[in-house]
Amino acid sequence: MDTNAVREVAAAAIIAGGRLLLAQRVAPPELAGMWELPGGKIEPGETPAQGLRRELREELGVDTAVGDRIGVDVPLPKGMVLRAYLVSLRDGTPTALEHSAVRWVDAAELAAVDLVPNDRAWLAELTAVLRAG
Ligand code: C5P
Repeated sequence: MDTNAVREVAAAAIIAGGRLLLAQRVAPPELAGMWELPGGKIEPGETPAQGLRRELREELGVDTAVGDRIGVDVPLPKGMVLRAYLVSLRDGTPTALEHSAVRWVDAAELAAVDLVPNDRAWLAELTAVLRAG
């Protein structure tokens, strides 16, 4: 592996009908029970869109279309960076295959949810998109 390459973790803002899909983490212990935008590490040779679509098939059992970036880059340990993308559902119903649950939230519910700390960086942008939709 190219150790100089910045490894990206891509997270999906899946929005439908004015609601955002959140997934509840099972690990690590300090994050278990908290909610996140689903996603995961992009593998070498994948574009972010390819990697995010793969992660969403694995985690939620859905086919998706990956759109524009939203919000800031969030630095992660080990030189990784976390980025969010607007994503739409193409096929399937999101199912918690690797999380303990999934739920759809509107802007008011998003404000009250126990979101993982990294994803809180995107709260303002996510809320604006939900309120516009
Ligand atoms: O999900 P996974 O453990 O593969 O994610 C890799 C890293 O990205 C972890 O440190 C995780 O906490 C972080 N992450 C995050 N917010 C997300 C998705 C992943 O902070 N929405």
